[in-house]
Amino acid sequence: MKLATLRTSNNGTTAALAVGEDTYLPLPARDVGALLADPAWRTVVSEAAAAAAHADTVSVPASGLAPLLPRAGKVICCGLNYGDHIQEMGRELPEYPTLFAKYADTLVGASDAVEVHGSGRVDWEAELAVVVGAELFRAAEDRAREAIAGYTVANDVSMRDWQNRTLQWFQGKAFDGTTPVGPVMLTADEVDGDFEVRGYVNGELVQHGNTGTLVFGPAKLLSYISQFTTLRPGDLVLTGTPGGVGMGMTPPRFLNDGDVLTTEIDGIGRLENVFRIHAPVTANA
Ligand code: ZN
Repeated sequence: MKLATLRTSNNGTTAALAVGEDTYLPLPARDVGALLADPAWRTVVSEAAAAAAHADTVSVPASGLAPLLPRAGKVICCGLNYGDHIQEMGRELPEYPTLFAKYADTLVGASDAVEVHGSGRVDWEAELAVVVGAELFRAAEDRAREAIAGYTVANDVSMRDWQNRTLQWFQGKAFDGTTPVGPVMLTADEVDGDFEVRGYVNGELVQHGNTGTLVFGPAKLLSYISQFTTLRPGDLVLTGTPGGVGMGMTPPRFLNDGDVLTTEIDGIGRLENVFRIHAPVTANA
């Protein structure tokens, strides 16, 4: 099953949807996070499907999609989780995951324009993201695995000039409206195996990784995070990016005004976001 969050107005109202082949079924929840907060959410979806058997499915363009979890309580990211990316950033294989947080304000929809003010080093990080489906605190890995509601696509777009101002990356990772997430959540029960993650700039493939090579896989990450903070339904965990980010290139390369960033995971979907960079772009060195 695929779930999404639809924008129902220009003033922030949204609704959860079950996504079919060509149709979107409205669900009685304001977004996917609110849906998952009901432990009986699968029943809610099947009842909505039964009630709509004769009509009522809506067809909406991808541009109508809001970020999957517009009100996520916690958005936690893992840096340095693929061997090739760790290498290009010049670091050692980690003993513990490198974690940082974002706010829900960073999230944008699958086809939204990304507006960046005040950075000339805007870089890409294509990532698999995990959607939490049950409360987790001090959970073992098996329990954490059972608590995964599903998976989605994200791009941990990073303002490298801001990120590298200090040892803490936070400020370069938490610009409002710069982290595309969606278009849908693929439920965990339909996932069998690893994902291919790809990133493109203006159609050119720049990143490609397989989540089977993650140093810390989804269940391990959720378990680790839950040792110090409670994860709840609708929280989002970004699992890190494979090699091929702009900062790792020689010479380094960053997004320019008008560039289109595409982020894609087979079986889930793709994000396609045009960038509006409202700053003089500094030299790429
Ligand atoms: Zn990242």
